[in-house]
Amino acid sequence: MNFGLKGKRALVCASSRGLGLGCARALAEEGADLVMNARGQSVLEDAAQTIRDEFGVQVETVATDVTTEEGRASLLKAAEGVDILVTNAGGPPPGMWHDWDREDFIRALDANMLAPIALMKALLPGMMDRGWGRVVNITSQSVKAPVPVLGLSNSARAGLTGYVAGTSRQVAGSGVTINNLLPGIHDTDRAEALDRGVSEKEGISMEEARANRCATIPTGRYGTADEFGAACAFLCSQHAGFIVGQNILLDGGAVNATL
Ligand code: NAD
Repeated sequence: MNFGLKGKRALVCASSRGLGLGCARALAEEGADLVMNARGQSVLEDAAQTIRDEFGVQVETVATDVTTEEGRASLLKAAEGVDILVTNAGGPPPGMWHDWDREDFIRALDANMLAPIALMKALLPGMMDRGWGRVVNITSQSVKAPVPVLGLSNSARAGLTGYVAGTSRQVAGSGVTINNLLPGIHDTDRAEALDRGVSEKEGISMEEARANRCATIPTGRYGTADEFGAACAFLCSQHAGFIVGQNILLDGGAVNATL
């Protein structure tokens, strides 16, 4: 299958590691040139160089915080005219419903709702003018089924999901699709940090924490960034033009629901 991505250009946010990196690698494998981003330069540049060497595409890097206005301004300067936008940022910290004050919510909203919305507002008009574009937002399974300790994520990502539901239908007629990918547990630094939290709180080993979580997933394992990236590349492909405003779970069957 030819994804039709050769010569396209993609901005992949928060992509020096984990799921963002998986998306960047899969798009590059299909021939897309990239603008990659993360806060720190050295890991980002290493990831970019590996992609240049492996796939022979052009990769520009912008080391900045995507959750700030200044960060987005420098990112958008480098990403002018991109055909594809993959939004992503680190997830909010765990806790309980009574732990968070207004500032905690504002930080979560900035990172996981308002940053992707600002990037879409900036880049959608160009995509619509050119008659082709793809946006994939990395959200979370917490949109479909709340994760009790991730109330900040449950809240902020629900807001983004509502925005995408309405907006995707308004831009689809211009050849631009917006969809959300909802990761369940994937084998990344984020999953390790959450396992560490459980291990410390419950006084069990990391191995036990991981085994307990694997037991809640029908596949019996965590997902990989490569699998996640492949789904992202398909949503960005020429074959996915009829997929609009969807929330696609990649969770090994963990969310126990018929629809
Ligand atoms: P990760 O911690 O492994 O990687 C995060 C990447 O984002 C890194 O490259 C980091 O440098 C970059 N980053 C973080 N904050 C940034 C910022 N403010 N500006 C620019 N770059 C930034 O995380 P991951 O596991 O790949 O998760 C990606 C997203 O998916 C997160 O929002 C996470 O909450 C969500 N998610 C992950 C899982 C999972 O199991 N891994 C499950 C559900 C949701």
